[in-house]
Amino acid sequence: MLIKDLLQDSRLPRLEARMLVEQVWRRSRAWLLAHDDEPADAALAAAYEALAQRRLAGEPMAYVIGEREFMGHVFRVTPAVLIPRPDTETLVEAALAFLQGRSQARVLDLGTGSGAIAISIALACPQAQVTATDLSAQALAVARANAQGLGAALTFAQGSWFEAVAAGSQFDLIVSNPPYIHAEDAHLGQGDLRFEPRSALTDGGDGLAALAEIARHAPARLLPGGAIWMEHGWDQAPAVRALLQEAGLRDVASRQDLAGIERISGGFL
Ligand code: GLN
Repeated sequence: MLIKDLLQDSRLPRLEARMLVEQVWRRSRAWLLAHDDEPADAALAAAYEALAQRRLAGEPMAYVIGEREFMGHVFRVTPAVLIPRPDTETLVEAALAFLQGRSQARVLDLGTGSGAIAISIALACPQAQVTATDLSAQALAVARANAQGLGAALTFAQGSWFEAVAAGSQFDLIVSNPPYIHAEDAHLGQGDLRFEPRSALTDGGDGLAALAEIARHAPARLLPGGAIWMEHGWDQAPAVRALLQEAGLRDVASRQDLAGIERISGGFL
């Protein structure tokens, strides 16, 4: 068997087969294409086949290769964390826009998972003091490893939403991509979502519980002039704006993701 035969594995989309070969061979695409007429090392071919089988069983590519790019950085991901999505870059962009001219800001990311949001903010704003929380110790371990690997300095804390940080601590900016999918949403049984941590995807109810809890406590946790931005589902923007307004935040607004869907909502103290 030649390397070419794996690159052209007809069981998988061409791009996925190539990514798995790159992962196993630890070689660039250019190297592999230049050497694709060579025999495939038997041990590497067996390792490729093990990954291919996982992918053929439906496991997300990000878990099979153990990484996913977000905001131009490569994050390690395991089944303990949600896979970072392009939609969520909208949240980071809003955070970075708010932090312009506020270099020393205190930032809190609730439910950080892989750390993608918090670490992207910390890397873009090295002087910001970023705290990232998660209920899951396993998720925090992934986030810590990502921070170390990417050279980001931030603080991690374990607990449920604001309970993770010291009572009375306040922030200039709060961001979160909490579980927001309705427990009855059929998407939970489809595609990548089947393999992701359920507690990162749904609150077990209508999908608004975590968004409501974070919004309710946000004013007490924001410094004067502070802001909060939360990611939510495609049809939740009006409900989330109402939650933010009821909490007492002002200038409440939503922003669209690249697909034109209102994906984040926020407000100011
Ligand atoms: N954006 C994810 C999805 O729809 C859900 C993430 C979340 O619940 N926070 O697949």
